[in-house]
Amino acid sequence: VDPADIRGYRPTPHLRATRGVRVPSDGAIDAFTVMKLLDEAAAALGIERIDGRAASVRDGSVHCDRGRVVHAERIVVAAGAASDGLVRGIPELDGRVPRILHGTGVGLRCRATPGLTTPDEVLRTPNRGAGLGVYHVPFGSDRFYLGATNVVSVEPREHARLGSLHLVLQSAMDEISSELRHAECRMVTGHRPIGADGFPLLGRTSVPGLWIATGTRRDGVTAAPEIARRFVNELLGMDDGLPACLSPERRPITVLDRDQGIDVAVRSRLIGPGSSTGVSAGRLEDEVRRQVVRLYDRAGLDVGVPAELLDLYADGRLDASRLVASTNVD
Ligand SMILES: Cc1cc2nc3c(=O)[nH]c(=O)nc-3n(C[C@H](O)[C@H](O)[C@H](O)COP(=O)(O)OP(=O)(O)OC[C@H]3O[C@@H](n4cnc5c(N)ncnc54)[C@H](O)[C@@H]3O)c2cc1C
Repeated sequence: VDPADIRGYRPTPHLRATRGVRVPSDGAIDAFTVMKLLDEAAAALGIERIDGRAASVRDGSVHCDRGRVVHAERIVVAAGAASDGLVRGIPELDGRVPRILHGTGVGLRCRATPGLTTPDEVLRTPNRGAGLGVYHVPFGSDRFYLGATNVVSVEPREHARLGSLHLVLQSAMDEISSELRHAECRMVTGHRPIGADGFPLLGRTSVPGLWIATGTRRDGVTAAPEIARRFVNELLGMDDGLPACLSPERRPITVLDRDQGIDVAVRSRLIGPGSSTGVSAGRLEDEVRRQVVRLYDRAGLDVGVPAELLDLYADGRLDASRLVASTNVD
C-alpha cells in the first residue's frame, strides 16, 4: 500500500515510510476482554481459584503467602516471568533449568479525543529484537493501544521506567502520528517470560509430579491454544505431546552460530530505537558491528544468542558457558 493512503498515518516527515504492506488477517483482540472471557470459562468449568500468591512449591504442595497449603498430585508452575523465583526455590532443580527472565513491556491504552483521526487498522513499524517496533492497535470506535517496549532483566521490575514510557510516546508520535499527542492515555505494564536461551520451557521435570510451562516470550497468547492442547496430552500420557527439546530441565540451547548471532544483533540494533540519527548508514553499521563483536567477546560467546539477551550475557548476568548448540533446529 502507499503509506499516504493509510488513514491517520501522519509521522514526522523524515521518518515517513516509503512502502507499506497490508496484512489482511492481522487482527487484534483487547487483552482485558480475553482475561474476562478466561475468568468466565474457568467459572463455568467449576475451577476453584484461590486468591493469593504461591510463595513456594515443595514436596507435592504449593505454599501460599497467606499460609494456605495446597497438595496436588500434579503441579504446573506457570506463573509467567515470576516462575523463575518459584523454580529457583526448588532445591532438586538447582542449576538444572535455564533462568526465566523478565521482558518488561510498557504500552498505552488510549482514547481519541474529538477531531483526532487515528488509523482504523493495525499499524506496525518494523519489529526490532532488541527494543521497540511501535505499533497501533485499534479496538472499538475511538480506542486504541500503542505498544510496546521490551526491557529484559534477570530481576523482576515491578514498575516501568520513565525511559520506556518516553520511548513509546516518542516513537508513536514520530513514527505513527504526531496528532496522537491529543489522545487520552493510561499506561500498562506487562512482563514477558523469556527463557535464558529464548525458547519456551514446557513439560515435566525430574521432580515427581512437577511440571513447568513458561518462557513463551512475545508469543504466549498466540501459542497458548497449541501449548495447552499438547500440555494436556502430555499430562494424560497421550500422543502428540510436547517437543522434547523444550523440556525445562536442559542446558540453554542455541540454534545460531556466532556469526549468525552477530548479524542478528547488528540488524536489530541498526533499526532499533535511536538509530535514525545522521551518521551515514555504512559507517553506522561498521561501528555497531564493532560494538556487538566486543559484547560477544566480553561474554565469551562462541555461539549466537537472541539479540535481546546479548547485554545480559556480556554483563555476566547469564552464563555463556552453559549454552549448547541444539541438534533439533525444527
Ligand atoms: C507488552 C506486551 C505485548 C505482548 N504482545 C503479545 C502479542 O501480541 N501476542 C502474543 O502472543 N504474546 C504477546 N505478549 C506475550 C504474552 O503476553 C506472554 O507470552 C504470555 O502472557 C505468557 O503467558 P503466561 O501464562 O506464561 O504468563 P502470564 O501471562 O504472565 O501469566 C502469569 C500469571 O501468573 C500469576 N502469578 C505470577 N506469580 C504468581 C505467584 N507467585 N503465585 C500465583 N500466581 C502468580 C500472574 O499474576 C499471572 O496471572 C506480549 C507481552 C507484553 C508484555
